[in-house]
Amino acid sequence: MLKLIDKKSMKFKLWTYFILFATTIIIILWLLQIVFLNSFYETMKKNEIRKIGNSLVLHYGEDGFEDLLYKTSLNEGVGIRILDENGTLVYPINIFDIIRPQRLEYKAFDEFLYNLFSSNENYAIYTRNDVRLEKPILIYGAVLRGSSNTNYYLYIDSVLQPVDSTATVLKNQLIIITFLSFLMSLGLSLGIASRLSKPIEDITKSARKLADGNYNIEFKKGDYTEIDNLADTLNYTTTELSKIEELRRDLIANVSHDLRTPLTLIKSYGELIRDISGNDERKRNYHLKTIIDESDRLSLMVNDMLDLSKVQSGLDNLDISDFDLKDMTEDILKRFNYFKDNMGFSFDMRVSGKSIVSGDKAKIEQVIYNLISNAVNYSKDIKEININITEENGKVLYEVIDKGQGIPQEEIGNIWDRYYKVGKSHIRAASGTGIGLSIVKSILIAHDSEYGVESREGEGSRFYFTLRSI
Ligand code: ADP
Repeated sequence: MLKLIDKKSMKFKLWTYFILFATTIIIILWLLQIVFLNSFYETMKKNEIRKIGNSLVLHYGEDGFEDLLYKTSLNEGVGIRILDENGTLVYPINIFDIIRPQRLEYKAFDEFLYNLFSSNENYAIYTRNDVRLEKPILIYGAVLRGSSNTNYYLYIDSVLQPVDSTATVLKNQLIIITFLSFLMSLGLSLGIASRLSKPIEDITKSARKLADGNYNIEFKKGDYTEIDNLADTLNYTTTELSKIEELRRDLIANVSHDLRTPLTLIKSYGELIRDISGNDERKRNYHLKTIIDESDRLSLMVNDMLDLSKVQSGLDNLDISDFDLKDMTEDILKRFNYFKDNMGFSFDMRVSGKSIVSGDKAKIEQVIYNLISNAVNYSKDIKEININITEENGKVLYEVIDKGQGIPQEEIGNIWDRYYKVGKSHIRAASGTGIGLSIVKSILIAHDSEYGVESREGEGSRFYFTLRSI
């Protein structure tokens, strides 16, 4: 069945929220306007009449009080009467009243007195149904205490207009408003949702392509910071993923190449011994030596690979201690005695200041061993290797300097990458596996070390790193 409404969609959610918002506002309006309108109106009227009454009581006895009564009555649209203690009208009086004094009906007057004297205030406000008008009337009463002994009563009345007709008008208006606000909610939510969801849909499409292995896509930015941030992050992810993919391809190509060559050689020399050199001791020994050398090379390569993955997976658990770089270097150099004694290499170590540092001893030893063995491997005619250990500004700078073949300028940025060998030719004469410097780099990064290389082709190289001194 076709799914017409996706209840989890942004459009549907926004629409629901808008409708909820509009409904709440409308319910509040209905309650205020229609349900509470009557009591609102009555309270308002009561307040009005109380204000008028109290102000008149205050002004009683002043000159022009009668004038004030007249004006207030006209201005505020209320009836004002002053009664004496018997309920006889004292104000307003017209010519006929003199002949036959007017008075408040007995029943009404009784009710007036009853309300006035049972009130807690010095005035009373109450409603009564007027039989002639057939409408409820709001009445205010208070005692006017003058200087003479006689007291008078202030009697103000005002018609309470029924609010039903007003309510009907409001009701009609509210029906229109309700209808309009639902329509607007729909329009607005659809509009906003499509503006919001369009860039997200675009990003989803691009992400699907990325999932299919297409790294040439770009995540488009939209009109919102949040979307821009998402696009930036995804673009960054794409770049990183494509790098990893490239690395993976290189790795498989190089590893299979590097492993295959010694294996082929081992197999061929094995066959040679079986078929040809079997009884010729000199030849056999020569062929066996190649097999042993190639096996060594294989295990060196496998060890390097294991080292790298070990270093990279356990970067955060460094085993930090304090140790002396000078002592360490002396120990390592002992391993190069063979090169010194038989191949004409010279190793010169200079130490200035203290050489005690803090770091992972075993890993730093690996770094130094790698750097010195590279210096040996890539030296040509001049076989001088200098090692400088210099204490400066709370750090110890360690330099390994050779006068060997150097590194071409355009290759210098790549030598720290896994499996990178200058020239990428994988000439078997170069002894290493192309992993050494990436192990060095991983270890130094974990130590927050500043490291690098300076090199000139044909003149030599200077590899350096720093460690925190103690
Ligand atoms: P490898 O096992 O090939 O030595 P490394 O990761 O140690 O691998 O070094 C990567 C590449 O950097 C080497 O193949 C070499 O071309 C270059 N390199 C490293 N050290 C030196 C050096 N001291 N002099 C010249 N080139 C060097």
